[in-house]
Amino acid sequence: MTAGSWAVVFGCATLVAVGTAVLAWRRRRRTPAATALAATMTGVAAWSAADALVYTLGTETVHRLYPPVLLASVGLVVVGTWVLARTVADPSWRPARRTALLLAVEPLILVVAAALPATRDLVMADLSAADGARESRVTFGPLFLAHTAYSYVLVAVAYTHLVRCFRRVTGVLRRQVAVLLGSAVLSTVGNVVSVGSQLDGAGSDLTPLFFLLTGLVDCWAIFRGGLLRLVPVARDQVVDTVPDAVLVVDPAGLLIDVNPAADRMLHELRPELEGELVGRPLHDVAGPRAVGVLLSTERRDGHRVAEVRPGVWLDVRDSAVSDPRGRPLGRILVVRDVSEQQERQAAVERLNRQLAEQVEVIERLRAELAEEAVRDPLTGLHNRRHLDRALGAGLAARPRTGELSVLVVDVDHFKRVNDRLGHAAGDAVLTAVAGTLAGAVREGDTAARLGGEEFVLVLPGAGREQALARAERIRRTVAATPHDVDGGPVTVTVSIGVAVCPADGASAATLLEAADRALYTAKATGRDRVVAAGPAAFVPAPASPADGGAQLVPGG
Ligand code: GH3
Ligand code: MG
Ligand code: MG
Repeated sequence: MTAGSWAVVFGCATLVAVGTAVLAWRRRRRTPAATALAATMTGVAAWSAADALVYTLGTETVHRLYPPVLLASVGLVVVGTWVLARTVADPSWRPARRTALLLAVEPLILVVAAALPATRDLVMADLSAADGARESRVTFGPLFLAHTAYSYVLVAVAYTHLVRCFRRVTGVLRRQVAVLLGSAVLSTVGNVVSVGSQLDGAGSDLTPLFFLLTGLVDCWAIFRGGLLRLVPVARDQVVDTVPDAVLVVDPAGLLIDVNPAADRMLHELRPELEGELVGRPLHDVAGPRAVGVLLSTERRDGHRVAEVRPGVWLDVRDSAVSDPRGRPLGRILVVRDVSEQQERQAAVERLNRQLAEQVEVIERLRAELAEEAVRDPLTGLHNRRHLDRALGAGLAARPRTGELSVLVVDVDHFKRVNDRLGHAAGDAVLTAVAGTLAGAVREGDTAARLGGEEFVLVLPGAGREQALARAERIRRTVAATPHDVDGGPVTVTVSIGVAVCPADGASAATLLEAADRALYTAKATGRDRVVAAGPAAFVPAPASPADGGAQLVPGG
């Protein structure tokens, strides 16, 4: 290739490198590594421009200025590459001022050495100027060789960072780092080949062209592949920033890492803790009590929630960590203080319990009220309202239960009790008779006070025989029971009319009427007796010889 062609090639390379540098520089706020890429591309641009100038002008001034410019450019490229690699490997990393100064020292020394006439030849001796030839011919001095070695070391360190990063990350990030590594290898191989072929001082240095290729690939990766946009937040930073306490414990139970939240939590829990926590047994640091409480708590969905101190509730998630071969590395404990939630939950549970108790009281009161509404206040038996309902239900269920009997019970000559002993004594007697009736009913039967001294018993499933037998038993019991009331002991008798469904009536009204008629017969035929409804009224013999009615036994 002619010098003119080389000049065009390097001129184009300069323009592309400048464009790439500008694009990267514009992105410096959005992507942490863009500044480093811009620096690298600026170095490539200056390097290419210097080469282009050598090929176009080739004057002595240009040859004089070439080495310092070259060394400044190479310095920028190498340092830029190193910073780029470090930033990609650890996006939170920023060069410290001291690091920046140290990185600047070597290129500065080389630039000064290459510029000063006294030391110039230690870096690079230009033979072409002496020859007056247009072809670039240089010999490299010891400083240049030292600089080359230093540059390779720095670049090697940069690649080591990238390789480590490549092994650590996954998915799209891994692909991005692979692109960076591939492009870096390209420029390095190009540089090695180029420098190797120039060791005799002849030929062209093609390194900037290779770096330009690298820059273009990186540029493509940045603008098309999303490189540097998707820079991961360092994992350490994530762990340090999460509000949960994170503790890492090795298989022997020693604490090997704690994040700031864990440090705070442990010190709040145990203010007596002093010194570095890492390296100490978890048991000692968290306290045997907390560990004991947590271990004795049942694990649900991978969590343990326990009250480790009065009022302090911790939610602990415990996960085992192992290396890729499955050997245990330890456990990661993620701890969250859930005291507030627990307190709220306890308050809600307390309220729920109170509410349930209140609902129970209300339900009891409602049931009592409902019961009172169907009870007769004096005797405690059911009232007319309930009787109607029970009789209706009994009749409706009769196809299943068979016959149903109704007993109408009336106290004989009750007016006399009132008249002789007073209303209160009458009440007491009524209550006692009601007690006898209540004692005579079975489950499913109903005993109700119809009004005054008249009562009704509904006996579902009872036929005439049974009903008459039970009525007779009631009559006998009442007649045999003396009542000790104010004014003296008193015994009363009852007359009972019995009607059976369906023989004596199918409806409540006809049944009650039939039973009433039977009762009327009982009264008319001497009282203290049981009479069955129907044409062939069954009238058992009275217990007392005469029309006994209310037997009044004089007091005293
Ligand atoms: P019979 O044998 O014909 O049934 O005579 P009796 O006196 O029992 O019948 P009557 O219907 O003439 O009288 C019923 C009495 O019952 C009249 C009333 O004063 C009394 N009585 C009604 N309700 C109550 C009550 O709640 N308490 C008391 N102490 N007496 C009542
Ligand atoms: Mg009566
Ligand atoms: Mg009556």
